[in-house]
Amino acid sequence: MYLSCKSIRIAMNHHEHDTRILVSGASVAGLSTAYWLARYGFKVTVVERAPQLRPGGQALDVRGPALDVAEGMGILATLRDRATKLTGMSIVDAEGKEIYRSTERTMTGGRFDSPDIEILRDDLCKVLFEAVGDRVEYIFGDRVTAIAQDDAGVDVKFEKASPRRFDLVIGADGLHSGVRKLVFGPEEQFLRFVGFYIAVFAMPNFLGLDHWQVFHQDGNLIGGVLAMDKSAKARTYLGFDVKEPLDYDYRDVAAQKRLMVERFADAGWEFPQLLEYMQDAPDFYFDATNQVRMDGWSQGRVVLVGDAAYSVSPATGQGTTVAMVGAYVLAGELAMANGNLLAGISSYQQELRDYITHNQDFALVMDSASQEMSFGQSETDNDTHPDGIPDFGAMVQPINLKNYPELVQ
Ligand SMILES: Cc1cc2nc3c(=O)[nH]c(=O)nc-3n(C[C@H](O)[C@H](O)[C@H](O)COP(=O)(O)OP(=O)(O)OC[C@H]3O[C@@H](n4cnc5c(N)ncnc54)[C@H](O)[C@@H]3O)c2cc1C
Repeated sequence: MYLSCKSIRIAMNHHEHDTRILVSGASVAGLSTAYWLARYGFKVTVVERAPQLRPGGQALDVRGPALDVAEGMGILATLRDRATKLTGMSIVDAEGKEIYRSTERTMTGGRFDSPDIEILRDDLCKVLFEAVGDRVEYIFGDRVTAIAQDDAGVDVKFEKASPRRFDLVIGADGLHSGVRKLVFGPEEQFLRFVGFYIAVFAMPNFLGLDHWQVFHQDGNLIGGVLAMDKSAKARTYLGFDVKEPLDYDYRDVAAQKRLMVERFADAGWEFPQLLEYMQDAPDFYFDATNQVRMDGWSQGRVVLVGDAAYSVSPATGQGTTVAMVGAYVLAGELAMANGNLLAGISSYQQELRDYITHNQDFALVMDSASQEMSFGQSETDNDTHPDGIPDFGAMVQPINLKNYPELVQ
C-alpha cells in the first residue's frame, strides 16, 4: 500500500457528515480509529477510563503494514524521531556479568537493520493523540456502563456523563474491554491464556543505561530494563511463566504487586532493587499474556478493534501493529460503506480475519518456543545467537491493505 500526498489532500477535503460514533478506549487502537474516522468526516467521541492518556508500558513495535498506516497518518517521521533508538543489548548473569552482547539487535525491538520502529507506549500514544488533534471530542475519567441498541442507533449510559445516543459504538478498550463485557458477555469465554505474566513500570535509571537494554533470566523469571539515555527514566519489564492462569483481581494493583514480590522473592541479580522501585511506580501495569479469540467482532452496531477483539499476545510483538491495521481497516470500510454501517462492519471483519488468525496462530507457536528460553545460561560469545531472542522481522504477517483515502468519496 502507498498513501500519496495527493490521496491525503483528497481525504482532507471530505465533507463532515452526521454519523456519530463512540470509541471506548484512548490507547493505540482507540486513538488510531478516532484519527481515521475523524479524517473521513465522522463525528467522533472518545471515552477513556483513565483521567488522561493512560501512562505506562515498555517499548512497543510499529512494523510491517502498520508503517504504511503510520505513513498515511503523516506520523511516520515523528515516530522515527521519538523511537527508543537503542544501540544494543546485554544479557547478564546473576552477578551482573555480561554473558551476551549485541549491537545489532535488542530483545524487544529485533534487528536494527529492519525498518521497524520501537517506541515507548507513552510516546506512541502521545503521537497518535497529537495526530487526532481537536477533531474529536474526548471524555476522560469515564466509562460506558450500559448499551442498548435498536435498528437505528445505540443508547449509551456512562458512569458520570449524561446518557447519549450514537449511530455506532466501537470497543477499543483493551484486553479487559468493558464494551465487550456489556455486549458479548463475560471475558472468560474469549481470553486464551498463553502462559506468561508481565509487569511493566518506570523507575530511576540506577543501572546507568544509555540507549541500552539489559536482560537477566533466573529459571522461569525474566527481567529486562531499558533506558533511552542516562538521564531518562528506565523502563522495566518483569515476567514469569506458569502453566495455569493465576487467580487474582486484575484491577487490584496492590495484590498484583504482592504477587510479583512472592514470585521474585528468591531471585538474584538486581531483582530486589527492581521490586523496591516497583512499589512506588505510579504507572505499574500487570497482566497475563492472553489472546482474545472471538468468532465475530461485532453485534449489530457495536464492534471491537485492537486487543479488545483480537489480542495477539506479546510473543511476536505484533499487538500494536495489529491494532493500528485494524483501526485503519475498520474506519476505511465504514467510510466506504456510504452510510450502511452494518455493511462496513461486515467488510472490516472479512478484510481482517485471515490476517488476525495468522498472527494469533503464529504467536502461539512463538509463545511455546519462548517458554523454552535459556538465554541466561550460555557462555560469552558475541557471535552466538542465544535461544529465545526473537527475530521480529521474520514474524511480520502480510496483509494487502486497500488505499482507503483514495477510495473513499
Ligand atoms: C498501561 C498499559 C501498558 C502496556 N504495556 C505494554 C507493554 O509493555 N508491552 C506490550 O507488549 N503491551 C503493552 N500493553 C498492551 C498494548 O498497548 C496493546 O497490546 C496494543 O498496543 C493494542 O492496544 P489497544 O489500544 O487495543 O489496547 P490497550 O493498549 O490495552 O488500551 C486500552 C485502553 O482502553 C482503556 N480502557 C480500559 N477499560 C476501559 C473502559 N471500560 N472504558 C474506557 N476505557 C477503557 C485503557 O485505559 C486503555 O487506555 C500495555 C497496555 C496498557 C494499557
